[in-house]
Amino acid sequence: MTTAMIVGPCGGFHELSLSPPLLQALDRAGYREPTPIQAAFIPEALTGRDVIGQAQTGTGKTAAFLLPFLNHWRDENRPGPQAIILAPTRELVVQVAEEAAKLSPHRHCRTVPIYGGQRFGTQLALLKRGCHIVVGTPGRVLDHLSRGTLTLERVRYVVLDEADRMLDIGFRPDIEKILRRCPPQRQTLLLSATLPPPVLRLAQRYMVDPININLSPEKITVENIRQTYFTVDEDRKFELLLKVCAREQPRQCIIFCERKRWVEDVYRMLRKHLPRVAAMHGDLPQSLRNRIMQGFRDGKIVYLVATDVVGRGIDVRNISHVINYDIPLDPENYVHRIGRTGRLGADGIAIAFVTPEQGEQLTEIERFINKMLDEDQIPGFQAYTPRVRTTNGEAPKPVVPIFGRRIKRYSNRL
Ligand code: AMP
Repeated sequence: MTTAMIVGPCGGFHELSLSPPLLQALDRAGYREPTPIQAAFIPEALTGRDVIGQAQTGTGKTAAFLLPFLNHWRDENRPGPQAIILAPTRELVVQVAEEAAKLSPHRHCRTVPIYGGQRFGTQLALLKRGCHIVVGTPGRVLDHLSRGTLTLERVRYVVLDEADRMLDIGFRPDIEKILRRCPPQRQTLLLSATLPPPVLRLAQRYMVDPININLSPEKITVENIRQTYFTVDEDRKFELLLKVCAREQPRQCIIFCERKRWVEDVYRMLRKHLPRVAAMHGDLPQSLRNRIMQGFRDGKIVYLVATDVVGRGIDVRNISHVINYDIPLDPENYVHRIGRTGRLGADGIAIAFVTPEQGEQLTEIERFINKMLDEDQIPGFQAYTPRVRTTNGEAPKPVVPIFGRRIKRYSNRL
């Protein structure tokens, strides 16, 4: 595998030898200049070779892998898609399909998103009408392949988007089955924030001499995001959330919780205090999830209380704040969550609520991002109870029930 390192900015899209209709589509989309990943990735992919792009979401990676295909697109008017794009979540699938529609150089170039949770019949009708690009989650794509409602015989362009995430979720067997059904004469592109061994093994097996476009791998956290944390007792988190929202007045904000039930709890309480609040997690019906994401993109929803279902890949430009109501157990998820703000160079604010006993977890995150978070405070508001020594030598009352959880109250961090 060859590795290329990207440095510095780049000129306009016309320098990338894109077709005039595609340049017009880019102009309509308001894209004036390629982002660094686009400037590096597109010329390589245009040569027809296999390419690995190591880039975070929010860098313009979707257009980077769509444009080379759209540039060569011809309306061949034969059944079956010419491109298949696999992505880990329904939301990402919808987003990629929207980007494809936006950048399509011709109105006849059709994209169909397919994902679990949406009615099979609806997808079938769209596939039957004919399309050029299929974007789907591996499970549902395989489902269509097994039922014979989708054929990949004509595919010549395959994209594995957020490959690390797809493998984390356990999609490896499905991905392999799908790849084995694609013609060997094809171009394969792989996008991934990280390249752990399982992703590299997949690349070795299914890609031909790929070049690796590596966008500053050390920069795992986004520089333009101000990151702070509050030390807070579990039972004061909600009160703190209200104070933070009042102080910060976010344009749009995602509030991350670790569990679906906690999302529901926070959502139900928050909507009593603030307008334009919504909740998002994997148990909600897909149609509702789509409506909520649309409402959030349109700016009708200001506060989105969510699980990690929106932690990756989802791009809403206007998000000014990310609040980690619960800090994630996996430090990598922290990076993905806070990456929802600060999109394409905009400034963003990430605030983490850390309970006294989560000191170690915070340290792990800091180690992972190679940066210390600043402690934040709200004047006049004490968010945690400092450790007190009891005179009789007994430990202080150790647990407080909150939202059905029982948590230890005193920790080794204070
Ligand atoms: P992505 O990393 O693909 O999720 O893209 C992040 C956001 O950047 C999306 O809203 C894209 O529509 C937008 N975008 C991608 N490329 C460009 C560009 N060259 N100029 C302006 N916006 C872009």
